[in-house]
Amino acid sequence: MSRRIPLLLLLGLSVLSCGFADRTPVEPVFPDLVVVTEEVPAAVRGHSYTASVSAEGGDEAYTWEVTAGALPPGVTFTVGHLGADDAILTGVPEAEGSFAFSLSVMSGDGQTASRSFVLEVLPVEPLSIETPVVPPALAGFSYEVRLRAYGGDGETYVWELVAGELPAGLELSAGGRIRGTPVAPDTTSFVAQVTSNGQTVEEAYRLAVVARQPESFQITIFPVVDVPPGVQPHLDEAVAEWQAIIQNDLPPVTIPTSFYQAEHCGGFGELLNGTSTDDIMIVVNITPIDGPGGVLGRAGACGVRGGTNLPFGGVMILDSDDLEPLVGNETLTHIISHEIAHVLGFGTLWRAQELIQGAGTADPLFTGDEAVTEYQAMGGDGLVPVENQGGEGTRDAHWRQTIFGNERMTGFSAPPGVFQPLSRVSVASFADLGYVVDMGVADEFSVAAALAPGGGGHRHHWGDLGWDEILLEPIRVLERDGRTRTIDPW
Ligand SMILES: [Zn+2]
Repeated sequence: MSRRIPLLLLLGLSVLSCGFADRTPVEPVFPDLVVVTEEVPAAVRGHSYTASVSAEGGDEAYTWEVTAGALPPGVTFTVGHLGADDAILTGVPEAEGSFAFSLSVMSGDGQTASRSFVLEVLPVEPLSIETPVVPPALAGFSYEVRLRAYGGDGETYVWELVAGELPAGLELSAGGRIRGTPVAPDTTSFVAQVTSNGQTVEEAYRLAVVARQPESFQITIFPVVDVPPGVQPHLDEAVAEWQAIIQNDLPPVTIPTSFYQAEHCGGFGELLNGTSTDDIMIVVNITPIDGPGGVLGRAGACGVRGGTNLPFGGVMILDSDDLEPLVGNETLTHIISHEIAHVLGFGTLWRAQELIQGAGTADPLFTGDEAVTEYQAMGGDGLVPVENQGGEGTRDAHWRQTIFGNERMTGFSAPPGVFQPLSRVSVASFADLGYVVDMGVADEFSVAAALAPGGGGHRHHWGDLGWDEILLEPIRVLERDGRTRTIDPW
């Protein structure tokens, strides 16, 4: 910098003198030289690294040198020649840590400038497999599910089947795609291995192929965690109940490979891309939510068929802290049954199907003809009262508990051991959603009985056991022509 001052003095002199004598030589004047790059990106040990440091000013012919500290071992700098001469830091860092150094630049006109940098060399990310489970396949229909890995070199993952076998018709590609058309119902176990950056890890999977049931409504459960053995019979019973209530087969759906994003379906959306479903697949996750009591679960649809708005995908998240004390108790079946109802559209597709009025007000009402008819037949008055208390996800998505008491589709579970009937109003509300239903499956229930002592109506202590919430997430729509869109039912 010190050499700039005489240059400026010279400039002043030349300006002063130019009016008097043209023979005074005019020195070229260059802008101040500065290092404009303020920081360099982090590197990863063992991975090739390139970063550039730019200067501006001077005559743009730069010479660089490290004037303090040192670059990480394995990294050197060269001078690039794209436009002005940048310092190019390049190489394969051989050690982790923070490396502080100063780079000085000198331009051809004699200016100098410098700046201090810290280059962080990070450890190599350990390679891991991010896909813990794979969804069921449908015999005779396309399946293309992508296994995902993390770490390694961050780019190249090579997959291989190293043990067991895939169901006939499916294969694992080197890119991690399990794809093909499974030929028949089957369940196989296999081990997939991924290699990246010289590291190798494996994961064991089970893949179930289910048969299409063209004459009936089929619910396929996709557990993303191990279902405790005590919980499984309750889950099976609740699934069987809804398969008996819903009578109609819906068109099978093959989900496009980029249909869901990671955040859809309770965080499992990407895992469902590329699968085929008849009639609905429900992701079941059992995980701590908020300790005993409070929220029992969350459930909702996440993918629906365009036109009918009937779901082909949904998710049910159950609070493990509430489940385990209820194993063996009918209340657990009722809770799971209630959550499946939300996946099928109860409370979750009412707005999309224009079946609710007054949402958000003190008097939300369900307007579907079939449910209203049943409600009035059992002594109710007007439209069907919808919950107006509780948090978002509870209100506007359940029957009103001050009227329906212990009915299964109120937002608050009755105490363990108290029977929670599924009323004809609840079953009929699925006809309003567009399903064909068997009314004969409904339990005996009347509004008057609910309001009688012990019927659960007018309870002052909301939720003896806890409550649940519908999943407040955007729902993806797959139109018949393959177009997709997202609805936010809230
Ligand atoms: Zn609910």
